[in-house]
Amino acid sequence: VIEIHDLHKAYGDLEVLKGVSMTAPRGHVTSLIGSSGSGKSTLLRCANLLEDSQRGEILFEGEPITWKGEGLHRRPSDPKQVMRIRTNLSMVFQQFNLWAHMTVLENVMEAPITVLGRARAEVEEKARMYLDKVGIGDKCDVYPAQMSGGQQQRAAIARALCMEPRALLFDEPTSALDPELEQEVIKVIKALAEEGRTMIIVTHDMRMASDISDHVIFLHQGLIEEEGTPSDLFGTPKSERLKQFLSATV
Ligand code: ATP
Ligand code: MG
Repeated sequence: VIEIHDLHKAYGDLEVLKGVSMTAPRGHVTSLIGSSGSGKSTLLRCANLLEDSQRGEILFEGEPITWKGEGLHRRPSDPKQVMRIRTNLSMVFQQFNLWAHMTVLENVMEAPITVLGRARAEVEEKARMYLDKVGIGDKCDVYPAQMSGGQQQRAAIARALCMEPRALLFDEPTSALDPELEQEVIKVIKALAEEGRTMIIVTHDMRMASDISDHVIFLHQGLIEEEGTPSDLFGTPKSERLKQFLSATV
């Protein structure tokens, strides 16, 4: 379970999150939708400790990962603790951020070995298993540049999975892809959803959001404007802003 209470985040004078509270229950898929600039990525980045926040609290499985109180530097100061939290809450970015000078297999194996200190042989077995799982088991020895965008994104997902995180955070995992490549990645994400993994997915893809989410949150200018089940939000939206947003996106 990821719980966010009254999260505030500003960049200088720009208030990006103005008091966001949400819960992403274990085994559920929670989607975050909203216009560009509404604060979706910022929210995920705060949860992954890539950003400090000014106010509020984030808990992961009951454990605070940010501290209550005023002041800017409220991430844990111990890098080991940050690592541990990021290991449990693995993030997949829009730009896959694979290391160009490493093969796909090496990319997937890197963090479990260097960060978690796992044995190479054991990690290699897992890495191959996760690459198979996302459908690119035959690409172990190629370099990222030799793969399509959809394959690169699937490798990035395998890399996140190889850390065996308790939750996955996706930031627009399909938006850098052509429509047909997008489908490959959506299939993988769907399969993970069906396994009952805890996931928060920021997406512009309303079909994916309505397909795989247990809960959808519509963010507007740094506040939750409306939330509910996919059929609530997409079927019977209440807020005018959400209606407007949905009519502009389909
Ligand atoms: P998109 O759909 O375009 O990805 P988003 O909902 O993810 O949008 P954020 O990336 O969270 O939006 O950005 C929210 C606001 O914060 C934007 O106005 C953005 O310009 C601003 N912002 C984001 N990162 C920074 C930063 N590092 N420094 C200053 N402002 C930032
Ligand atoms: Mg974003």
